[in-house]
Order: sequence, then structure tokens, then C-alpha cells
Amino acid sequence: MTMNTSPGKHLDELPFTGHRMPLLFIGHGSPMNGIEDNEFSVQWKQLGQEIPMPSAVLVISAHWLTRGTHITAMDFPKTIHDFGGFPKALFDVEYPAPGNPKLAAEAKRLVTSTEVGLDHEWGLDHGTWTVVRHMYPEANIPVLQLSIDYHQPERYHYELARELSALRNKGVLIIGSGNMVHNLRMIDWSRAHEPEFGFDWAVEMNDRFKELIASHQHDPLIRYDSLGTAAHYAIPTPDHYFPLLYILGLQAKDEHATFFNDKAVMGSITMTGVKISRG
Ligand code: ZN
Repeated sequence: MTMNTSPGKHLDELPFTGHRMPLLFIGHGSPMNGIEDNEFSVQWKQLGQEIPMPSAVLVISAHWLTRGTHITAMDFPKTIHDFGGFPKALFDVEYPAPGNPKLAAEAKRLVTSTEVGLDHEWGLDHGTWTVVRHMYPEANIPVLQLSIDYHQPERYHYELARELSALRNKGVLIIGSGNMVHNLRMIDWSRAHEPEFGFDWAVEMNDRFKELIASHQHDPLIRYDSLGTAAHYAIPTPDHYFPLLYILGLQAKDEHATFFNDKAVMGSITMTGVKISRG
């Protein structure tokens, strides 16, 4: 037997840590946050230092939409530059974190409601690396992604996530990466330099989402379609909202939510993040 020098150990080799890892929902916003030191990325960096060092990071990113649910299972996931029209400096970024095929297989085994596919093609899209590189700049912690089956209804995502909860006791940090309020068609570029001002409906929904999350009212969050006109503006398509449902699905009854980066940018996007933990 060879020595395992990689940080990506088999899940069964990972000790029970005696506590659950917290959960994070991150509003990732513009890909430029991946290379900027701004108030949002500084907060992500701080979270990386506050949270106990994870054994692995599992991200549900708004930018991996599939038919069926898949998990990255390669040894070395590539950095995907899935955007256009940004400076070369952003395309030059590589985030060489290892994968963890054994953890992928373990996650697949935990989910019994559907057949999770082991993926060898994807990698780390910008919903993942623009955030995680600030949290773990040394890229020495294995990072995996779980895809979003875009053909499934809201509740599927919420319930599927619950099946993964055992990973939290093994030091796996699960992150949903999207934006709660995300309407690209209504972006107001004139507000780029006044980021604190969101449109009325964006502020209204941001407040409503926080209120429902803070009071554990998950049902209206799952049925967000019934939250009225402002919700329709906030979630014209659910790609950036679904990652939140995974994090809520994983929340235990004794855990509470705190918020960070609670701001709107360019009128129609909120960067609001959620940390769920017992503390
Ligand atoms: Zn995005």
C-alpha cells in the first residue's frame, strides 16, 4: 500500500470531527470578484479563516446545470473559464485544487432518491473558483461540485441535499454558490458605483428572503413562485436561487442563520450570503 500524500483522503479515513461543519450560501456576483480584493471577497477570505479547516469542499454552483444529478469525480478538476468579455487576467486564473474521487463515490452512495452520476468532464466553474480561491488560496483542499438537475422541481433540490448531511460530520464544507436576487436583464450599470442601492423589488425580496431564512420558514422559500411580483423579478430563472435550496435542505433544527455581504449591486443582484451553524 502506498502512502497517501494527497490531502484528499477516503471519507472513511476521515475522522468524525465531533461537530458539524457549517453551511454556506455565497452570493458570487460578477466573475471579477474572483480577482478583486473588494468588500465581498475580503469577507469570503475571512470566512475561510473562521470556519474549521474542512477535509473537502463540495459546491453546488449556479453554473453547472444538467439533466440528472452529477458529482465531479476526477483527481484533478480543471479550472473552467465559463464567461466572456472579461479581462485576460481573469482567464489566466487557475485554481489547481485536487478532487477526491472517493468522496464523490461516497456522496453518490449516500443519495438513494436518484442515481448520481460520477462526472469526469466538468471541473470547477466560476461559481466555485471565484469564491473558493479567496477562502483557501493555497488550493490544498479537495474541491468537488454537485450539479443542479435543471429539469427537476424546487423540492427535488431541497430534499436531495438532505441526503448528503452525513458529509458535514466528516469535515466536508458544503457551499451553495448563486445569488438570491439575480436579474441580469434589469442590471443598471449606472449603479455600478453606488452598489448599495438596489431596486425596490430587489430590496424587498432580499429582506423577505432573510426573514424567511432566519425564521426557518423553508416552505415559502421552496415555493418561491407564490411569493408575489417581486419574487418574479428577483428570480426570473431559478439557476442562481437553487443553490440556496440545497443549503436550506441541509439545515438542522438546532442551527441558525447569520447573513453577510448583505448588499445589492447594480440594482438587480444581491450579494447576500448565509452562514448556517449551531453557534
Ligand atoms: Zn453566476
